[in-house]
Amino acid sequence: MAVTCAKCGRQYDVTLFGFGRTINCACGARVGLEHRLNLSEDAEIRFFADVNVARLVRWLRAAGFDTVWEDAIPDPVLVRRAIDERRFVLTLDKRILRDFLVDHVVVLENEEPRAQFAEVVRRFDLKKPPEYFTRCLACNTLLRKADAPEIATGVPEAVRKIHDEFSFCPNCRKVFWEGSHARRMRTALENVFDG
Ligand SMILES: [Zn+2]
Ligand SMILES: [Zn+2]
Repeated sequence: MAVTCAKCGRQYDVTLFGFGRTINCACGARVGLEHRLNLSEDAEIRFFADVNVARLVRWLRAAGFDTVWEDAIPDPVLVRRAIDERRFVLTLDKRILRDFLVDHVVVLENEEPRAQFAEVVRRFDLKKPPEYFTRCLACNTLLRKADAPEIATGVPEAVRKIHDEFSFCPNCRKVFWEGSHARRMRTALENVFDG
């Protein structure tokens, strides 16, 4: 199968266009074969955050959205892994949409993480989660309730006196509770969903 340049009619072998990659035709036009994620209607929306939106990641995870992030990941690897894992790429980098003809890359307009979060909620029409802080903000793993020995070793006594709900990340091996920072974050998240 061949892919034809819309401008000059030159033909290119389809294998050049894996994972939505585009090429420059000899005539100067950009040639590509669009890759579509083709998610089912009820598929869980998952994200792959680009390096340039690192601070958005915690907000998405705090609201329970499965979000992967990796430092210094090259664009082709990012786009390909997102396709393999059926994730939407969130980025500030418009160049990705020139280099790849794909339907799963979303270029955000906002620079500020909280505004970016609101933008993602709006663009994907994300619904308010039943619970916040179900996912580790550091590593994306689903948290579970901490058991007594984990609380005993992982929580300072002063904190145990004023909190009674603790979560545990099986990957980070850490106990979490909703301190003042998390409470502020929860309020900000609620404002986005209710606003
Ligand atoms: Zn051409
Ligand atoms: Zn973790």
